[in-house]
Amino acid sequence: MAVVRNFKTGASRRRGKARRTLRAAVPRNQAAARRPARRAVEDMLAELKRRLLEISDLNAAASVLGWDQSTYMPQAGAAARGRQLATLRRLAHERSVDPALGKLLDALEPHAGRLLRDTDASLIRVARRDFEKAIKLPPEFVARFTAHTSESYDAWTRARPADDFASMRPYLERTVELSREYAGFFAPYQSILDPFIDDADEGMTAAAVRKLFAELKRELVPLVRAIGEQPPVDARCLEGTFPESGQLAFSHAVVKALGYDFERGRLDKTPHPFCTKFAHGDVRITTRVNERDLTDALFSSIHEAGHALYEQGVDRSLEGTPLGYGVSAGIHESQSRLWENIVARSEGFWRHFYPSLQATFGHFRSVPFDAFVRAINRVERSLIRTDADEVTYNLHIMLRFDLELDMLEGRLEVKDLPAAWRAAMQADLDLAPPDDRSGCLQDVHWYAGSVGGAFHSYAIGNILSAQFMQAAVAAHPEIPHEIESGRFAALHAWLREHLYRHGRRYPPDELIKRATGKPMTAAPYLAYLRGKFGRLYSLPIG
Ligand code: ZN
Repeated sequence: MAVVRNFKTGASRRRGKARRTLRAAVPRNQAAARRPARRAVEDMLAELKRRLLEISDLNAAASVLGWDQSTYMPQAGAAARGRQLATLRRLAHERSVDPALGKLLDALEPHAGRLLRDTDASLIRVARRDFEKAIKLPPEFVARFTAHTSESYDAWTRARPADDFASMRPYLERTVELSREYAGFFAPYQSILDPFIDDADEGMTAAAVRKLFAELKRELVPLVRAIGEQPPVDARCLEGTFPESGQLAFSHAVVKALGYDFERGRLDKTPHPFCTKFAHGDVRITTRVNERDLTDALFSSIHEAGHALYEQGVDRSLEGTPLGYGVSAGIHESQSRLWENIVARSEGFWRHFYPSLQATFGHFRSVPFDAFVRAINRVERSLIRTDADEVTYNLHIMLRFDLELDMLEGRLEVKDLPAAWRAAMQADLDLAPPDDRSGCLQDVHWYAGSVGGAFHSYAIGNILSAQFMQAAVAAHPEIPHEIESGRFAALHAWLREHLYRHGRRYPPDELIKRATGKPMTAAPYLAYLRGKFGRLYSLPIG
């Protein structure tokens, strides 16, 4: 992998100079001979793209089946759907590990710096990274893993509402075994979590994540304590009954205003909201509705729309190649968090949207603006991660990170997970769940994928959301005023220009530096939290 990294470094800067030097130094007859060589390289590149497009199509077809499974599929279709998904993923995987693909990359790599456009050089770098990862996984393992997680997800959709951890235990035990087997294909590693973390966030390691978490915890624990010493915010103004149709209509209107393009997407219901991309012209989001809690559908719709804005903003020219997606889970999550929290929980945002919320739900006509804004931003120790406020949220993430590492390293047996979860919640948040539904069964991740690498990206996303927002506002100081009038064009344009359009062209660390001028840093995020919650809770800090 180090070779691949060196290969991309400075490739874009070197290219023009190399070309000029060549032209000057190469005699005329040799220059003529280079022309067919260039054509051969272009032919190989076209063949590479054809192969990658086929893989992309197979994966997109599997994603359509996955979307359908999570939205409209009749329950009885589950077993067949698991098999169909496994078949498609296996076909895609077989093509991803085809030795002919490796040979094409071998042949193209020496030309990447000289003959090809920057984007093609990036394509070769990313295709190489994906190829090197894929060839480590036997197709038989991929099929086994996909079939298992599909069955496990299906069982979880029933076990969670029934609070039935016992029925999930054999599934999760098997998932832990399969996750260890997965990590084993990428040995040697420093931490068993490293292969999972690198899959999600290229360049990150468990050690780097731990260091970040320690920095966050140092600041967050005193902040949570200081807020806890203030009078609690009264959030009763959010209590009521809010009909599903009104909630969906309001969510629809908000995400449209943020810039989500319904001509190239749609919003549907699901038990666990997600965003999925089938093509540049088809990026879908999902939400769940709770008629007793307005914030569930609203903020999960905005969250998923944040992911979708990123995917809809990737350059169309990257369609069908591995470059045509968001670059990492952490940067992806920074977009969902930026729109959900920094924008849509801000006072300015609601200056514009509160009147239409009041028009949709008469309930709010008697609720003062300040009371509403304070209620949607209240900080309290809570059981459910997705409902957690901005300050305690990262504590939920750190807890999961530790538990998954304990399970993978054999310190924690699956049968003891519910108790370990309760103990960790008690220690970190001073609160223990009364049941597993609001404990270790609450998140889909371990029940629909691997145990490992599922959660750290949320915290990275929180950190980056503030770093990107700070850079966007520095470039366009009018952004806060625009948000107050329900306009998001300057912010959206900055994000599209500096992040979205690039897809996977640059590795995450390079993209962050290009966009903000700095490597990832928690400072803007911590300053944001201190400032916002210092004001909301009248703290002597901030
Ligand atoms: Zn997300």
